[in-house]
Amino acid sequence: MSNRTFTIIKPDSVRKGNFGKIITKLEAEGFRVRGLKKLHLSQKQAESFYGVHRERQFFKDLVKYMTSGPVYVAALEREDAVPHLRKVMGATDPAKADAGTIRKDFGESIEQNAIHGSDSDDNAKAEISFFFAESELV
Ligand code: GDP
Repeated sequence: MSNRTFTIIKPDSVRKGNFGKIITKLEAEGFRVRGLKKLHLSQKQAESFYGVHRERQFFKDLVKYMTSGPVYVAALEREDAVPHLRKVMGATDPAKADAGTIRKDFGESIEQNAIHGSDSDDNAKAEISFFFAESELV
């Protein structure tokens, strides 16, 4: 099990001023931030990042949402990083997420669900290197 994962604090969270609250929660859960950038994803970046969902009927909406405003991307570290972040995030649909999870507390809908977290160690590695050079992880 790798000790790194990748997160995006999504546009709805940034728009509502929830970035600090979400980072505070992640730090309280033992995650350390190794890399952090604020950026406004281009259409190309969003389409490429979510390429696995290209055939899904919500793909266009997802890209539109993810490019609708700035996001924070971060590389996070702690023991069992991938499964622990998935647990702290909660279910994709905030309405179905457990109490106390980030999506329950800050998500609006199955689309505007506050946060992304890698779903496997391999994807965590690929997603971190999509946004960060190794020298930017400190
Ligand atoms: P995740 O791993 O929990 O983020 O979920 P997925 O990989 O299945 O989906 C990626 C992202 O697409 C989600 O986090 C949502 O922002 C969005 N999404 C997922 N399902 C739907 C849906 O049914 N409709 C819409 N509009 N967006 C969705």
